[in-house]
Amino acid sequence: MVLCGSCDLAVQKRALPSGVRALCPRCHTALYHTPYCSINGMLALCLTAIILFAPANMLPVLDLQFLGSYRTTTVIEGALAVASQGFPIVGLAVLVAAVVGPGLLILSILLQILIVKYALNTRIGKWLLKCLLQQQSLLSQLSMLEIYVISFLVTAFQLSDFADIHFDLGTFCFTMLFLSVLFLMREYDLEHMWSYLDE
Ligand SMILES: [Zn+2]
Repeated sequence: MVLCGSCDLAVQKRALPSGVRALCPRCHTALYHTPYCSINGMLALCLTAIILFAPANMLPVLDLQFLGSYRTTTVIEGALAVASQGFPIVGLAVLVAAVVGPGLLILSILLQILIVKYALNTRIGKWLLKCLLQQQSLLSQLSMLEIYVISFLVTAFQLSDFADIHFDLGTFCFTMLFLSVLFLMREYDLEHMWSYLDE
């Protein structure tokens, strides 16, 4: 329910087609409008993110040449290396924030989109969508790709003073993954997703 700002009429909130504004039926004041939240747009971003997810995490993100020795590392190897050097909690945090969290977040949003698109009229679809929406804010808090990207860039610049750094195909995939999740979360609107259940 929303209250009209001008005449205090209580109006049942509904999902709107994109670009449409809801007006108060009594005084025609604008009440709310659709956020970006286009289901097909989010589906495209979600699929892009899923395609990028494996190469972003499996391919080397960094080539390091230092005093003649040569190393490459992937995101997961990086996290494991940190853990094995006596910082298991930091390693685990990297793994959760950069790999597990974003992976679960993308999968959860994909499932929500598929339910809204194809299975919203079934009882199990509604139940599953409700469960996913209840977990959504926790999942989006776990996913901290942006912090990982920033710390990665800072490290690379610091190392570049005394080692030869080359970015790799994994870096490209990781950056594109970061961008697709960024735009996905810009499209995604939790309140709007809840409104599909009210119908
Ligand atoms: Zn009104």
